[in-house]
Amino acid sequence: PEVPVDALLAGSARRYGDRTALHFAGRELTYAELHSRAGAFANALHGAGIGRGDVVAIHLPNCPQYAVAYYGILLAGATFSPTNPLLPPPDLAAQLADCGAVAAVTWAPAAPALAAVRDRTAIRLVLVTDREQAVDPAHRLTLDGSLGDARDFEEFHADAPTAPPAVEIDVHRDLAHLAYTGGTTGRSKGVQLPHRNVVVNVLQYACGGTGSVPTLDDEGGIVLDQVGSPEEFPTRLGTGVAIGLAPWFHAMGTIGGLNVPTATGATTVLHERFDPGAYLADAERFGITGMSGAPPVYGALLRHPDFATRDLSTIRGLSSGAAPLPVEMIQGLQRRLGEDVVITEGYGLTEVTMGATIGPAARSAVRKPGTVGPPVADTEVRIVDPAGTDMTALPTGEPGEVVIRGPQVMTGYKDRPEDNEAVLVDGWLRTGDIGVLDEDGYLSIVDRKKDMLLYKGYNVYPRDLEEILHAQPGVAGAAVVGRPDPEVGELPVAFVVAPGADPEALMEAVNAQVTPYKRLRELHLVDAIPVSAAGKVLKRELRERLQKDTN
Ligand code: ATP
Repeated sequence: PEVPVDALLAGSARRYGDRTALHFAGRELTYAELHSRAGAFANALHGAGIGRGDVVAIHLPNCPQYAVAYYGILLAGATFSPTNPLLPPPDLAAQLADCGAVAAVTWAPAAPALAAVRDRTAIRLVLVTDREQAVDPAHRLTLDGSLGDARDFEEFHADAPTAPPAVEIDVHRDLAHLAYTGGTTGRSKGVQLPHRNVVVNVLQYACGGTGSVPTLDDEGGIVLDQVGSPEEFPTRLGTGVAIGLAPWFHAMGTIGGLNVPTATGATTVLHERFDPGAYLADAERFGITGMSGAPPVYGALLRHPDFATRDLSTIRGLSSGAAPLPVEMIQGLQRRLGEDVVITEGYGLTEVTMGATIGPAARSAVRKPGTVGPPVADTEVRIVDPAGTDMTALPTGEPGEVVIRGPQVMTGYKDRPEDNEAVLVDGWLRTGDIGVLDEDGYLSIVDRKKDMLLYKGYNVYPRDLEEILHAQPGVAGAAVVGRPDPEVGELPVAFVVAPGADPEALMEAVNAQVTPYKRLRELHLVDAIPVSAAGKVLKRELRERLQKDTN
């Protein structure tokens, strides 16, 4: 579809103008309001000399102002670049300098950190908002001199005309997003995503992964009727109410949490931070039909006492992504919510805008818990030899590196020619993940190449051990890393959250189920497993912990 990303919002504003787009702290914003406020923000950016080709950073938790700023940036023809509002100052400075942002939108608690690093960036305009402003846009902030020339976000665009400015966009070249990888394995890299990539990936998921991409009508509205009924495809949001648990600064949030509901005219209930009790209360209150989030979020919901007592009968589908969803957790969710609820797991990475697979797509589709399903429409997934640059497919069932080809694959990392040469080969993206495809074309992610352990020449996949740990009674979290050993290579070591458990007995229970070379050699009980804001286990922190213990 040859339309810019903001056409998705324009389409919903025309079709469902009065429908609530966002609920936040008791306030509602309709699609028509969101569109006109974004239009005003775009005009104000133009007034400040910011437009096509410029990068604007958003440094906010999920809130209505985020959506206004996001679509406003795109309507102005500029490029959106998200930063995690909890990023430590050195990483924030590095990312803001790398993306080349000329303006940033932030909120009061994060504004001092941003002000402190600003002189290391190209930022010349800082706009600040806060929680009160989310509830009452007429509220004005008191900005003292400590934030330099920072301006009030609402005041900045309060008087601007609401009709979006006319902007020429080349959907194949102009970047909608300059997004950063999660930084789970190393320094975050800037991923360049033109408008076309974003629109395609939104449509690939908007239909719940039905295999055919819905088209847009003449006015930029999405045509959902052609992909079957919401009863058959329960993870398709259209007309539903969703609670987005994914932060919008991460691919899963920007695409799955913000744009998919927008494109389908769904209502999203927003929380700026994750509190399981509050989520469950809102799930009941708003009669939500869908939830999307990363596995740790579902783990927290499952452990919460209210999960058993709240009325969640309106839920038709749940979707997970960003990290493996343990089979044990899928079964727990299914037991509580009923077999009719379809739990989908998607797989992707920032480099493919958000995602490449989803499964199962429909109520009638074959469910294979533990797999991430077949590729979404117009997307090819192949398993190749992880060692070389040969993109020939390995035989079905053989593990190897996952490579992806499709219209959602990035055009390249920003300013990293060597990385680009390494990961983009003959139109394929090398993901750095090890996976297997079965005879039905369903993909299973075995592990990250970088997390794989080598024991006497054998591959040990930590994820296999983690799955077994998760299935033990009383285990609330588990991660396995390698302890370097001069004799054998690496020894598997587990970190486990299991209050009151006997570590020896737990280790024995796991080791009884695996071939000898995969056995755990140490098991440490811990209070929590470190996870990133996107919900990924930070294994490098666990490896550092092991190293510290040794020294
Ligand atoms: P960096 O590349 O900077 O180290 P990152 O890999 O966390 O960070 P993201 O793009 O946020 O960057 O994450 C993509 C990775 O997340 C994938 O390569 C894969 O390892 C993992 N992942 C995503 N979805 C799933 C899933 N459903 N199951 C298992 N792993 C997943």
